[in-house]
Amino acid sequence: MSGETLSNLLSEARRFPPPADLAAEANVTAAAYDEAAADPDAFWAAAAGRLDWAEPWQQIRDWSNAPFARWFTGGKLNAAHNCVDRHVEAGHGDRVAFHFEGEPGDTRTLTYADLRDEVCRAANALLSLGVRAGDRVAIYMPMIPETVVAMLACARIGAPHTVVFGGFSADALRGRILDCDAHVVITADGGYRKGAPSALKPAVDEALTACPQVRSVLVVRRTGQDVAWSEGRDVWWHDLVAAQPAEHTAEAFDSEHPLYIMYTSGTTARPKGILHTTGGYLTQAAWTHWAVFDVKPERDVYWTAADIGWVTGHSYIVYGPLANGVTSVLYEGTPDTPHQGRWWEIVAKYGVTILYCAPTAIRTFMKWGEQIPARFDLSSLRLLGSVGEPINPEAWVWYRHAIGGDRTPVVDTWWQTETGAQMISPLPGVSTCKPGSALRPLPGISAEVVDDNGQPVPNGSGGYLVLTQPWPSMLRTIWGDEQRYIDTYWSRFPGYYFAGDGAKKDEDGDIWLLGRVDDVMNVSGHRISTTEVESALVSHPFVAEAAVVGAADATTGQGIVAFVILRATAAEAGLDGAALARELRAHVTKEIGPIARPRQILAVAELPKTRSGKIMRRLLRDVAENRALGDVTTLTDSTVMQAIREGLPEGS
Ligand code: ATP
Ligand code: MG
Repeated sequence: MSGETLSNLLSEARRFPPPADLAAEANVTAAAYDEAAADPDAFWAAAAGRLDWAEPWQQIRDWSNAPFARWFTGGKLNAAHNCVDRHVEAGHGDRVAFHFEGEPGDTRTLTYADLRDEVCRAANALLSLGVRAGDRVAIYMPMIPETVVAMLACARIGAPHTVVFGGFSADALRGRILDCDAHVVITADGGYRKGAPSALKPAVDEALTACPQVRSVLVVRRTGQDVAWSEGRDVWWHDLVAAQPAEHTAEAFDSEHPLYIMYTSGTTARPKGILHTTGGYLTQAAWTHWAVFDVKPERDVYWTAADIGWVTGHSYIVYGPLANGVTSVLYEGTPDTPHQGRWWEIVAKYGVTILYCAPTAIRTFMKWGEQIPARFDLSSLRLLGSVGEPINPEAWVWYRHAIGGDRTPVVDTWWQTETGAQMISPLPGVSTCKPGSALRPLPGISAEVVDDNGQPVPNGSGGYLVLTQPWPSMLRTIWGDEQRYIDTYWSRFPGYYFAGDGAKKDEDGDIWLLGRVDDVMNVSGHRISTTEVESALVSHPFVAEAAVVGAADATTGQGIVAFVILRATAAEAGLDGAALARELRAHVTKEIGPIARPRQILAVAELPKTRSGKIMRRLLRDVAENRALGDVTTLTDSTVMQAIREGLPEGS
């Protein structure tokens, strides 16, 4: 990707320095970069010192068996104690841990003291089912408080959990249960989505027809819908958990004890069971949450609007915020139920101060229009975050303006399931933000952009993003497949972790993420990133969202095919399809250059996305090249692809 790079992103000139009041009180100042650079191990040891350890560590980092890392070796701690009990012991038992908002409008408030009681009961319940330290437990749940309780109960007894997104099929669930050999499953009858109960238990029953090792299924009653019941295997949460004592003494586990396995979303290939362990993971999840969101536990109301079945939910709904003793919002449902202002109603209702979500949500809100959030009082917000995909500069600016009232910093946080916690991000009290850039590695993190030979590229050039030093919350392996761990992450550039993403450094050395290297297009020998063409399209007032792929082309190698979702302004302009395509092609030519001009532009109603809102470009590539679709099991809505196919003009 070096050499022939294009530069519409790098010509983005808008700058947003930190608000003075936020900077004056910020948890982390610019000095953190220097301290961490001078002695990264001491820096991470201080971050680990924010947790309660039952036994101190002997060594901060052990990289002697690279690429298999160990952090805080010899140290012992309990993750649930750190997320719950210690806050109660410190006198904060009355602080709200979660304001839960169900999709139908039912609410629950859980204080830290409530959460401790529930977690202890659930831990006792799991023990009564024979779960022991080291046993894997699968969790397949809606977004309700019991999901958090179940995860912490597992952590408390040292049983690694694997949370499978509630939108996944029985097949996907079965594959994950078998891969990690879970013997107990925690689920619910269903949850509420798009205004109706959506069943979960039938998928568990179907998955388990081929998982004979699963002996217990613990079922939360959420919707009250009818469920099939397997006597001797199934047990109601309200029968078993409620009957347990609210006392349980947490045992301290080794820093390297497995905390959870998270299967990556499978945007590109067969899901990988990413293993995270306890001490290093909790250290970095807690530190980044405290630093990047500048949380003040006494007064902030924090909201990650994402699913717990995604790593973002693990680190920034559960482990990070709870380790910091923060008050959070937990919302069960979809953003447009019962109306398109639901999120903003929630922000106003609870006085949310910090909001973290994905660019896909932001682009959807852009499509619905600025007048919707404008109806709500969003003045409590003081900081916004973005995660999951590159955020197009136009979407960044819209987010800060329409949601943040032109007041709030927007932190664009780059990280992965594998990294466990945020890695590249602005610090809100320090950084001058650039729309579309994650800026630089956080203190204690070492990242580089390298060329094909693993050499750092000069400022102003693009290449591959790598991490050059181990970090506390890094994955320890792929569950059951050490060779795949080495091959996938550590072989492309020896000694470096290869993230699979392309990136550029601007003239200041700041980093701009360009999407996955698998998605990079090659047009007449020019390497063009999907992100840049998509951002150019989204900067046109007609376009809400765009996905771009390279399709085989007889003359140019690959031709650019763009799928766009139009804003209301496009219909108002009254152009026909051909005129619209001409207009957008001309716009991309102006923004980037003729080489990036799409060969075809197709207007669609929806784009295929994973549960975490990422566009699945490989499926669009299948359509653009007229092939049968590849694996669609991780799509949120499988009808989308059919709708796209049917909507295409003849012969395309
Ligand atoms: P799989 O690895 O199975 O294909 P996935 O990569 O989608 O799935 P995640 O770990 O949830 O699963 O996503 C991490 C990826 O998301 C990153 O590698 C990057 O491509 C993208 N990403 C996350 N945050 C950002 C960001 N702030 N800017 C740009 N890209 C981001
Ligand atoms: Mg990935």
